[in-house]
Amino acid sequence: MATELFDRDVDVVIVGAGPVGTLLAAELRMARVRVVVLERLPERSPHSKAFGLHARSLESLDRRGLVERFCEGARSWNNGHFAGLDEWVDFSTLDSNHGYALLSEQTRTERLLEEHALEVGAEIRRGHEATAVRQDEDGVEVGVSGPDGRYTLRAKYVVGCDGGRSLVRREAGIGFPGTGGRVTARLGDVVLADRENAPMGMERTERGLLFCVPLDDTYHRISTFDFERGKGPGEELTMDELTTSLREIWGCDMGAHSPRWLSWFTDSACQADRYREGRILLAGDAAHTHFPVGGQGVNLGLQDAFNLGWKLAAAVHGWAPEGLLDSYDKERQAPARRVLANTRAQIALMNPDPYVTQLRELFTDLMRKEQVNRHLAEMLSGVTVRYELDGPKHRLLGDFARDLELRADDGKSLLPEHLHGATGVLLDLADRPEVSEVWREWGERVLAVERVRHVRAACDQEPELAGLLVRPDGYVAWAADRDASGAELRDGLGAALATWFGTA
Ligand SMILES: Cc1cc2nc3c(=O)[nH]c(=O)nc-3n(C[C@H](O)[C@H](O)[C@H](O)COP(=O)(O)OP(=O)(O)OC[C@H]3O[C@@H](n4cnc5c(N)ncnc54)[C@H](O)[C@@H]3O)c2cc1C
Repeated sequence: MATELFDRDVDVVIVGAGPVGTLLAAELRMARVRVVVLERLPERSPHSKAFGLHARSLESLDRRGLVERFCEGARSWNNGHFAGLDEWVDFSTLDSNHGYALLSEQTRTERLLEEHALEVGAEIRRGHEATAVRQDEDGVEVGVSGPDGRYTLRAKYVVGCDGGRSLVRREAGIGFPGTGGRVTARLGDVVLADRENAPMGMERTERGLLFCVPLDDTYHRISTFDFERGKGPGEELTMDELTTSLREIWGCDMGAHSPRWLSWFTDSACQADRYREGRILLAGDAAHTHFPVGGQGVNLGLQDAFNLGWKLAAAVHGWAPEGLLDSYDKERQAPARRVLANTRAQIALMNPDPYVTQLRELFTDLMRKEQVNRHLAEMLSGVTVRYELDGPKHRLLGDFARDLELRADDGKSLLPEHLHGATGVLLDLADRPEVSEVWREWGERVLAVERVRHVRAACDQEPELAGLLVRPDGYVAWAADRDASGAELRDGLGAALATWFGTA
């Protein structure tokens, strides 16, 4: 007979300890929220879906003091691909301290995020599967099947970070519209007998596309993209099927054998029609799925977590201003829409149809133009994400507060370390009394960095800033130039603090 337990001491239950759920748990813990993560797998998966982290993820991890541990011992590279075209996308042109892609397999990313989450006190229950989610006016109940039987957890909020087939999304009745799968990718981490002659990277053929990279001294990851022959729901991929697919698409199977992981997926691209239903929220793949081309899924999901964590914490602690929690959906829908769109565009360019060959040649030529190449680099790395925020117009409002724009004379970047505590930060850059006067009332929720000296804007022509209010996720909530009047400073800053950090 299953046991029924009630645990009423939880503020937030996160379903899913993938990269997104784990980071969100850490963000909530840093804001002193009591959080439990339920993960149905008894142990972390030994298989890596993703391989890399892009610039915006690295910038954000830097703002939690984590980027060094991610970079330590990891390789990085300046180039990426778009649709497997012959011209590389050059990340070194990015206006970022992290103008590169970091090679960090998903297993490693998950391990490092879990270490961080545990360090800040998150509880992760492995082997505990969420089986039902029901909300009422005051809270949400999650049915759980754990190693010792069934129990129920009650929390103020539940976040579904439970991947593309999200139970939480279904239970909340949130729609997941999008485009169905037309391309089938068959993936294997295998040993290649003919290792020497294996291609490297992406190769388009008359029948589809082959992806092939060495993982270590023994294994290769190979994947065929088949534009004709699909698979039925629930079917397993076998090694025989993979070798047949290799022969069809690449012309030979390279002596592939001894798979340690076989998987398949399609290019179906869907997005939740809302990221919040009452006390239930979605983040990561539970909110958006797409073909993993360009390595964007983990990065997109991590940004969901950075955006949601502090807002949900404010709601839990009862000081969230009206609309704060809903701003999560408003802000995070658009970046996911753009990623879905660019992955669909890449799939279209990968089609083996001979007409597409001409399109690829044209596109490759365009990529040799600096502006086009930079546009793609910015898009894939997520550094152009900015939010439409209300408030006095300023060129930095809603943009990510880049460390490049705030540098001390010794070259040291000032901003990231002030955000390590995951609170809002107000930089008083011109010693204007109005800034510290207004801030005093919000002192418990916003860290003020007073009298930051020797700070200049990155571009010498720009007027220097008088102050900058940065949200915990690193985005600019208010900014004013040095020529702003006292009233402009007082009113603008006061309104921004109230909008994002509640009544004083
Ligand atoms: C082949 C491949 C290559 C990829 N390459 C890249 C890349 O290079 N870069 C990149 O950024 N992205 C890449 N992606 C995408 C990336 O892997 C996903 O976007 C990412 O894993 C999403 O993270 P998540 O935490 O949202 O969900 P997931 O990683 O799917 O984690 C969800 C977790 O929830 C758990 N769970 C599910 N249901 C329940 C339940 N009912 N109760 C408890 N636990 C539950 C699951 O066991 C799982 O651990 C790739 C994907 C694939 C398939």
